[in-house]
Amino acid sequence: MPPTFEDRCRGAVLGAAIGDALGHPVEFMKIDQIRARFGAAGVTDYALFWERAGQRFAPYTDDTQMAEAVLVSLLAGRDAGEDLDATMGRMAQAFVGWARDPQGGHRAPGNACLAGCRALARGVPWREAGAPQAGGCGSVMRAYPFGLVFADAPERAEAWAVAHSLLTHGDPIAQAACAALARGVAAVVADAPVAEVLTVMVQAADRYSPPTARMIERAVADAHAGTDPDVVFERLQAWAAHEAVAAAAYLFARHPDDLRAALLCGANTSGDSDSIATLGGALVGARVGVQGVPEAWRVNLERSAALDALARRIGQRG
Ligand SMILES: [Mg+2]
Repeated sequence: MPPTFEDRCRGAVLGAAIGDALGHPVEFMKIDQIRARFGAAGVTDYALFWERAGQRFAPYTDDTQMAEAVLVSLLAGRDAGEDLDATMGRMAQAFVGWARDPQGGHRAPGNACLAGCRALARGVPWREAGAPQAGGCGSVMRAYPFGLVFADAPERAEAWAVAHSLLTHGDPIAQAACAALARGVAAVVADAPVAEVLTVMVQAADRYSPPTARMIERAVADAHAGTDPDVVFERLQAWAAHEAVAAAAYLFARHPDDLRAALLCGANTSGDSDSIATLGGALVGARVGVQGVPEAWRVNLERSAALDALARRIGQRG
């Protein structure tokens, strides 16, 4: 039995947040440093825990903070029957609030995200807030909710994900990455075969940035050829949006049915470990569903119950 829609939403949201938390302690470490500290296999479990108010948990980063803001805004906009413009206005307010006082404190947010939020706070229209050359992974890392909320309307998932990039990231590679991820997640939720999901991602990226589409294709070819992750992730460090979405496609192509393997493969990289693992976690988590999420990782994740409840809301129209 394939996972239900609710199972897939929970798998994607929790998988993304868990990947973020696994990659958190090694985001700024090269792969050699990771292995020197954690052993030949690198991190194989949460390596960072915080304690607050008597709770011990593995903290996620800005990726999940912003993805949660996106998801909350999309659900509220949907329940209020809002159009794109109204929902982006709502999301802009949520981003400004996040930049001022992020839930759980600041977690090394990216400069383009902060600059976009400053522009939004000054009253710059949402379509113009992101710098035209901002092409980091800061918008794609939070784009998977579009593929969940609009799973039955993939064109809208793509169009709105692309629009939302403009709040902070205007470069075509960031728009292409958002398009590919949203479409990819929607295709996974629709139970499309792995090869079809990857084709959909390439086609979506190609509409905004052909070089991004080529980068995804090459990453998929590497996965099929069995190219070593160290080689692939040396090229795809994922600080840039096109590299990040290609890295996600590689993880999905390599480990489509094994969330644990995908997340650890993504976290143990020289580049933006938490973002790579979060993107892979969204795609693979949507495929395997909450049943495929390792129990201990789910239980020990920061605000696990709150994120799980939010994921369940996607299938419940308010
Ligand atoms: Mg991060």
